[in-house]
Parts: sequence; structure tokens; C-alpha cells
Amino acid sequence: VRVGVLGGGQLGWMLARAGDPLGIRCRFLDPSPAAPAGRAGELVVGAYDDPAALDRFADGLALVTYEFENVPVGSAQRLAQRVRVLPPPRALEVAQDRLTEKRFLESVGVPVAPWRSVASLSDLRDAVADLGYPAVLKTRRLGYDGKGQHVIEGPDDIEPAWARQGEALLVLEGFVRFERELSILAVRGRDGATACYPLVENLHAGGILRRSLAPAVAVSAALQARAEGQAHRVLDALGYVGVLAIELFQVGERLLANEMAPRVHNSGHWTIEGAATSQFENHLRAVAGLPLGSTAARGASAMLNLIGRLPDTVAILGIPGAHLHLYGKAPRPGRKLGHVTLRADDQAELERLCARLERLIPPDPPGGS
Ligand code: AMP
Repeated sequence: VRVGVLGGGQLGWMLARAGDPLGIRCRFLDPSPAAPAGRAGELVVGAYDDPAALDRFADGLALVTYEFENVPVGSAQRLAQRVRVLPPPRALEVAQDRLTEKRFLESVGVPVAPWRSVASLSDLRDAVADLGYPAVLKTRRLGYDGKGQHVIEGPDDIEPAWARQGEALLVLEGFVRFERELSILAVRGRDGATACYPLVENLHAGGILRRSLAPAVAVSAALQARAEGQAHRVLDALGYVGVLAIELFQVGERLLANEMAPRVHNSGHWTIEGAATSQFENHLRAVAGLPLGSTAARGASAMLNLIGRLPDTVAILGIPGAHLHLYGKAPRPGRKLGHVTLRADDQAELERLCARLERLIPPDPPGGS
């Protein structure tokens, strides 16, 4: 089976490696000839909105998926006229615009933080008056890893935040005083079968994921069931096929969805070593129409991103249970260069080893995103 993947970043690289033992070969489309996935599969270099590049990419393929969520929806729709495109392009469309996403999530009964659409300075003043301080102003489109967002702490922040965004399509969200951030990764097959991984606890700094712990500790059966219920409603409403991630804020026993990603997700990297079937393998199984694999965790895992610069990798490999994944990207502040997953048989062991690992991973140099 040959699968086309829009985007050739590290997610694509890990998809290709998961496909290999299943007899699935990946072909990537990416604008950069240095795209990490090129090390593991055929790379077509071209812009996502270049019809000739899309045609070259799709030639001979029966199935296309994506690892990058900002692929133009028009390109996915164009491809869908000649090949099967999964997850459905509608999922991309929903996830690319925070406003559409919030409306969609609410429409399927998934709670989100209070929000207001903002298209002018006077809208922003009205929205702040409604939601109160602090509030978070975000661009509707192309915002990720905390890019394009500003916290408004008081009246003096309104005009500067508006001026800095320099874009008319925004959304203001109430600031959520969450206890922690979680994510749920779910997968749905072509036959409608679904499975969810255990909830993951995520720590962000500067809007970028730093660390994931999986399974998240102290998750009640009710909380896991609530997250799975939310994921199922999203999957079913979209007729989704593949892996989907939803980032959640936990407030008491309540969950508010922050955003969804219609693709494999950084908070699921631990599944390579820490689950019976990785998110990458399950995504390929789903889109290729194969039976889904077990999503059960194997022991306890911690995943740490390597951001901006590379640590002492030899020392990291000296820690029992540490697995290194380097994406082959040139170091740059704020850039994800790789990750380390630490897997242990129990939580106490994981905490002990994780403390060792964290000492080896220096903070990102300043000047990043
Ligand atoms: P996002 O770009 O929406 O993924 O946001 C990046 C990070 O900013 C999140 O992971 C949270 O840590 C924080 N954040 C985003 N929105 C809110 C909010 N409404 N309230 C509190 N923290 C937020």
C-alpha cells in the first residue's frame, strides 16, 4: 500500500517508520527539500497550493492523509476528487479556524472556554467587557504553539494587543484557571470502530509543549470516560477516519476543549514505546482500512521535547528506559529538534528517572517563538 502524506515534518517521519513493518510506504509533499520525512520516504518538493505539485504527488496514489494541519483546504478538496483523502477535508476546515472550531465543538456538546469573535477594536472592547480579565486574544487562523496570542490583563492591554495582532480575524477567550492541561488521542477506523488512549498530562512553556506524562496520574474513571465521550462525538460528527487529538483544560472534574488537531499529535509521541500500538501505526491502520491496534499503555511514560538546541545525547541514552528521537533539523530557538521518551514499569520509577532526564535537558535559548 502506498499512502500520500501532506506535510513532511517529524510527524511524517514517524508515520513512515510505523508504516514500514506493515508494508505501507509513504510519499510526502512538502515545500522544503530538507523536510525530515524525506529520510524515511519519497519526498515530492512543492507548495501545497501548487496544482502541478499536487498532481505529481497524487500520481499513482489511492490514499492521501496529512501530518500538517495548515494544508489549504482547497488542496485537500482538489486531491479528494481523484483519491481518497482521510481524515475528511472537513476536519481540516474545522480545525484551521478557531471560531469554526469552537462553534463546531459546542454544536456536538463539547464545552469550551467562553469566547467572543473579534473583528475590530470596538468588538474587542465589548468582548473584554463581557468576558472580564484576564482574557486571551488569539488569531483565528495559523496560530499554533502559542504563536499569535496575547493575554489581556487589564484595560491598558487592550489597544496594544489589538495593534500587535495586526489582523482583523481574532477570537477572545476567557482565561481558564485550569488545574492542568490534558489531551485525549482517539482513533476511528473506516468501519467506524473507535479507540482512545489514556489521558495525557501536558506541560507547556511559552505556548510550546515541553513535557507529556502518560497515562496522566489521578485520572478518575469518570474523567477518562468524559474525555472519550467528547472525542467520540467529534469523530462521529465528522465521519472522521484516523487519529485525532483534543487538547483539554481540566478544571475540577470538568474538561474544556482548547483545540483539536486532525492528525497525529506531539502529546502522543510517548505511544511509540509506551503503548501497545503507537498513534502513528494506528493512524495508518485507520486510514488504510485495517483493524485498529490496542491503545493500552505499557507502564508509565514521560516524553520531553528537545527544543532549540540539542542536549548531551550520550548522557540521555545512559538513563535506563530512555529512547531518543532526533528529527535531523538544524537547531533554531523555539524549534522542536527531537524528543526523548522515558518508559518505566511504574510511576515511582518514572519519577526518579524523569528527574535525572530533566537535569540533562537545558532550557530553550531565548529568542524563540
Ligand atoms: P494554544 O495556542 O491555543 O494551543 O495555546 C497555547 C497554550 O496557551 C495552551 O496550551 C495554554 O497553556 C495556554 N492557553 C491558551 N488558551 C488559554 C486560555 N483561554 N486560558 C488559559 N490558558 C490558555
